[in-house]
Amino acid sequence: MLKDLGEFGFIDRISSLCKTHGNDVIRGIGDDCAIIKISPDENLLITTDMMVERVHFLVNLQTAHSIGAKALAVNLSDIAACGGTPKQAFVSIAIPDCFDVIWLEDLYRGISELAAEFEVDILGGDTTRSLTDMVINILVTGFTKNNETLFRNGAHDGDIIAVSGHLGYSAAGLELLRNSSNSSDQIYAPLLDAHLKPKPHVGVGRILARSQACNAAIDISDGLSSDLGHVCKQSGLGATIFEEMLPLSEALTQAALELSADPMEWILNGGEDYVLLAAIRSEEFAKVKLAVTEAGADLIEIGRFVSGSEMKLIKKSGMVFDIFPKGWDHFRA
Ligand SMILES: [Mg+2]
Repeated sequence: MLKDLGEFGFIDRISSLCKTHGNDVIRGIGDDCAIIKISPDENLLITTDMMVERVHFLVNLQTAHSIGAKALAVNLSDIAACGGTPKQAFVSIAIPDCFDVIWLEDLYRGISELAAEFEVDILGGDTTRSLTDMVINILVTGFTKNNETLFRNGAHDGDIIAVSGHLGYSAAGLELLRNSSNSSDQIYAPLLDAHLKPKPHVGVGRILARSQACNAAIDISDGLSSDLGHVCKQSGLGATIFEEMLPLSEALTQAALELSADPMEWILNGGEDYVLLAAIRSEEFAKVKLAVTEAGADLIEIGRFVSGSEMKLIKKSGMVFDIFPKGWDHFRA
């Protein structure tokens, strides 16, 4: 059964059926983008992500504009995770009869405005009828220099684990939209924005790539525990996260109080943050952080990669807990 196998077990299983033949393929399945060598010093990045109505978005909670923008943003985030500059997008959509043209134009306006912000050209795609839900699939290409490409599998023992923004905001924002009558309170605006209008951290990805001090990176789409787990597994390492270093804002604390939720659950396992997680050589961390903050973004140290294979959370009390990958899994959810 798919739900026993889980999303990543399923991907592992079909990977063996997806053979690569060209020696220009640097990475196929298993990283944020496929990475293809196109010249001695340049790589092509390709990523694709699908959003399905009722699984990824609800038309009664979100505007068409924000659904469109998010469908592109999640792809740009994968390009960012590889240190790339996004270039082109292809948009495919399956549309049920109940959606009108005005709504669909607003969806495309959301895609198009974010594309313009990142100088991405929309070059085509496919449109079809759907008998049930709407499905949006976007493919994005990007480029990196060969020596500025970030992978998931390069972390070293002792590297600093850093994230480029708040964790758990998107999960908290979604819970507020679903279960709170106060979700329009100003204090919650960053949480709602994180869920409805995520901004891909392309600029941070480029700085990390250029720094030559970033040994691995991933974007947090499924949750810290799952995505850190990918870097650990692929790098053959474990990780230690310090609770006192995890950013915990007043907005997140207040939302957790109001919804009787545990903010650490959102931080560790809530998905769709679309911030970058990076492994950075410790002696160069201050320099890289300065470059990121000078660009108006954040780089927050939350722990260290360590030898072994286990992920641990050191609580403020000093108690140590195991972290298991418990983020979003489509087939187990
Ligand atoms: Mg990703």
